[in-house]
Amino acid sequence: MFLKGKTALITGSTSGIGGGYAKALAAEGAAVMINGFGDQAEIETLRQELESLSGAKAAYSNADMTKPEEIRQMAADCAGKLGPVDILINNAGIQHVAPVDEFPEDKWNAIMDIICNSAFHTTKAVLPAMKERGWGRIINTGSMHSKVASPYKSAYNAAKHAIAGFSKTVALEVAQQGITVNTISPGYVWTPLVENQIPDTMKARNMTREQVMNDVLLAGQPTKKFVQIEQVAALALFLCKEEASAITGANLSVDGGWTAQ
Ligand code: NAD
Repeated sequence: MFLKGKTALITGSTSGIGGGYAKALAAEGAAVMINGFGDQAEIETLRQELESLSGAKAAYSNADMTKPEEIRQMAADCAGKLGPVDILINNAGIQHVAPVDEFPEDKWNAIMDIICNSAFHTTKAVLPAMKERGWGRIINTGSMHSKVASPYKSAYNAAKHAIAGFSKTVALEVAQQGITVNTISPGYVWTPLVENQIPDTMKARNMTREQVMNDVLLAGQPTKKFVQIEQVAALALFLCKEEASAITGANLSVDGGWTAQ
C-alpha cells in the first residue's frame, strides 16, 4: 500500500474512468475524495467501498465543475476532511457532438468549463500545499482528442488540447519542487456510457453487436479493442510512484494505437 497517508482528490469520479482511478488509489491506501453527479445511494456505496479498500477515510463532494466557488470549496473540504491534497486528478468531462456552425453556445461553455477551466481552479487551489510539502502528483485526463481531432467535436477537441497544454505549463513551473504534472490520454474506453450506445446503434444501422463495435465505435482504434478502465487507472497509479518522478509534462496515450495513425 504505497499510498498510505496520502490524500487524493478526483473530479468526475462517480462513474467510469474516474471511479476506476478512485478504486485503484484506494486499493493502495489513499484517502480519496470523489466528485460528480449521480444516484446518491450508488455514490454512498462507492464511498464506502473506497473506505474498505483503503482502510482510510473517503469523502464525496457534489461540487459542480462549472462553478469556481464550488470547486474552491471542494478543495477546502477535502483538505479539512481528509488532509491536504497530495494527488489531484482532473477527470470530469462531458461531450456534445454538432457541426461548429450549429454548436450551442451553452454546450461550448460547459465543455470548456468542465474539462479545462475546472482544472485551472483545482490546480490553483491545491498547488500551494503541495509546494509546502515538496511532493505532489497532478494527473489530467486528456483523450486521443488532446492530440488529434475528429469532426463535430470542436469544443471537446479544443478543451482536451487546452488541458494538455495547461499540464505542460504547470509541469515546468513546479519541476524542481517534487511535483509532477501529466496528461493521460485514453482512446475509446469501455464505460457504461459506451455500452449503453450499442443496442440503439444496432437498431439504427441494422448491424450486429460485433459490427457496431468494430465498424462504428472502434473504427479508428487499431487494436479493435476497447481500452479498459483498469488499464487507464494502472498508468495513473504508476505516475504516483517514486519511479515515475522523472515523468512530467508528458501526454501519455493509452489508446490502442489511435494516435499512431
Ligand atoms: P462518465 O460520464 O462515466 O464520467 C464523467 C464524470 O464526470 C461523472 O462522474 C460525472 O458525474 C462527472 N461530471 C460531469 N459533469 C460534471 C460537472 N459539471 N461537475 C462535476 N462532475 C461532473 O465518462 P468517462 O468515460 O468515465 O469520462 C471520464 C473522462 O475521461 C472525461 O474527461 C472524458 O473526456 C475522458 N475520456 C473518456 C473516453 C471514453 O471513451 N470513455 C476516452 C477518452 C477520454
